[in-house]
Amino acid sequence: MQKHYDVLIIGAGAAGLTLALHLPKHCQVGVVSKGALLGSSSTYWAQGGISAVLDADDTLSSHIDDTLNAGVGLCEPDSVAFTVENAPAIINWLVELGMPFTRDPDSDADTGGEFHLTREGGHSHRRVIHAEDATGKALQTTLVNHTRLASNIDIIENVIAIDLITSDKLKDSCGDKRCVGTYVLNRNTGDIDSIASTTTVLATGGANKVYLYTSNPDGASGDGIAMAWRAGCRVANMEFMQFHPTCLYHPEAKSFLISEAVRGEGGILKLPSGEPFMQRFDPRADLAPRDIVARAIDHEMKRLGIDCVYLDISHKSKAFIQSHFPNIYQRCLELGYAIDQEPIPVVPAAHYTCGGVVTDLQGQTDIAGLYALGETAYTGLHGANRMASNSLLECMAFARAAAEAIRIELQQPHPQPRLPAWDDSQVIDSDEAVVIAHNWHEVRRLMWNYVGIVRTDKRLQRATNRIELLQQEIADYYGHFKINSDLLELRNLATVAQLIIESAKCRKESRGLHYTLDYPHLNPEAEATILQPQPETR
Ligand SMILES: Cc1cc2nc3c(=O)[nH]c(=O)nc-3n(C[C@H](O)[C@H](O)[C@H](O)COP(=O)(O)OP(=O)(O)OC[C@H]3O[C@@H](n4cnc5c(N)ncnc54)[C@H](O)[C@@H]3O)c2cc1C
Repeated sequence: MQKHYDVLIIGAGAAGLTLALHLPKHCQVGVVSKGALLGSSSTYWAQGGISAVLDADDTLSSHIDDTLNAGVGLCEPDSVAFTVENAPAIINWLVELGMPFTRDPDSDADTGGEFHLTREGGHSHRRVIHAEDATGKALQTTLVNHTRLASNIDIIENVIAIDLITSDKLKDSCGDKRCVGTYVLNRNTGDIDSIASTTTVLATGGANKVYLYTSNPDGASGDGIAMAWRAGCRVANMEFMQFHPTCLYHPEAKSFLISEAVRGEGGILKLPSGEPFMQRFDPRADLAPRDIVARAIDHEMKRLGIDCVYLDISHKSKAFIQSHFPNIYQRCLELGYAIDQEPIPVVPAAHYTCGGVVTDLQGQTDIAGLYALGETAYTGLHGANRMASNSLLECMAFARAAAEAIRIELQQPHPQPRLPAWDDSQVIDSDEAVVIAHNWHEVRRLMWNYVGIVRTDKRLQRATNRIELLQQEIADYYGHFKINSDLLELRNLATVAQLIIESAKCRKESRGLHYTLDYPHLNPEAEATILQPQPETR
């Protein structure tokens, strides 16, 4: 018997789970996650918090202005206003769910106290509500606990979505094109099934794994963006990939962030020779904004051919470091670095995907019955640069709006065609699985070298030549051998790499996160980069 859901949600982070919890209880909902519910999403690893106007001295218009400024003229004002205006209600909802936000120690303990708000880069007020320095873990745990209690929601773990099924591809297709289901691979058994759904939602997170160094968990391979592109959706602003300047450089700590607060408290970036270098790039030296610091590190690494630079806070006392950075101190010590005695090796790392699948204010994509939410989506909120702590907010604001749109959509009858079974009669077991690992590495290295923090036309052309070759090889492999999750992720990584390169080539200026030596100026008009799939790319 083929499974059918009213709503199939692909992805179990803040976006997917918020949607699941807001759908009407009579809806049969399936949530598919390729990894474990706790630990595999970016949501789980978020540190700082969620931005919302909660302080009496703060205003919605100030939050809106700050977001528009960070986005360097490319934000969609409607999207910004919508997100910011929804923030206080979202925080109330989370408080009702029992989210353990940190209380302000100076407020009245008898009344439960006000919540503590921090201030982050780009925000002109204190407006980031948090749960200590592990907001994501608290958020994911709260959402998972409530989802598990809901009798209308099936959680399906360790299952990876392969591709969307659209009605125009079915034998007896009739009516307008609509998403009618998804092919999925069970990672435990290797079985491939089709799941039918009246509406399907992509909430698979970002694509930051496309770079050699990333702060994201392993699953951030852009699956939702690649699936939507193959199905025929437009994709926008993929050139705007945000890099965090300081991720620990260590083979076992692929994605451990060294907070910017370390520089805020006196940490100094140094070359392997011990020479500080940031004052050569900006008068604010180590306190320059995130994108300037990331570009300076990238420049020095390329100039000297070195693998990392060093962040030195060892001139501060052990007691100071332990009290200000308990987690960083402990994690570095476990990995062999006593940061009160020696500098920390760091590299910039891909952190956030500002672009994605084009949606409206309710998460609706170009294909009927298909929605995209969270880091997978392009809603117009972030423009050319994401402001800190606006991303979890975006996940939840658009998930709530999508729930309402889907509720209305489900009131109409939608024909549910029988889906064809996956056909793997023409493929055999791979005899050279090592090719997948090699190509994974090649994609991530070429993106780091040629499409990273500082770009040029020549580097982008080199990247184009290489990615075309890799895509041919991957397509050939995909057509001949049985699939597994590594191959699926590799195919998606190559697709998002191609989308990032193509978008970067379109932008003949330097704006926000896109910086190119060939066009260092800012164009007077700001325009989003919107890519339209050609029929043969599907
Ligand atoms: C280290 C770190 C710190 C951050 N700090 C902050 C912060 O303080 N504040 C803030 O606002 N933002 C922060 N961010 C960004 C924010 O965490 C993410 O943008 C947000 O969590 C994305 O949520 P999401 O639901 O879109 O995707 P995710 O939380 O990444 O969830 C994606 C889900 O999709 C599943 N999935 C992916 N592909 C498939 C597939 N093919 N089939 C089935 N399932 C699939 C995954 O298993 C996962 O369950 C941070 C990010 C990182 C990495």
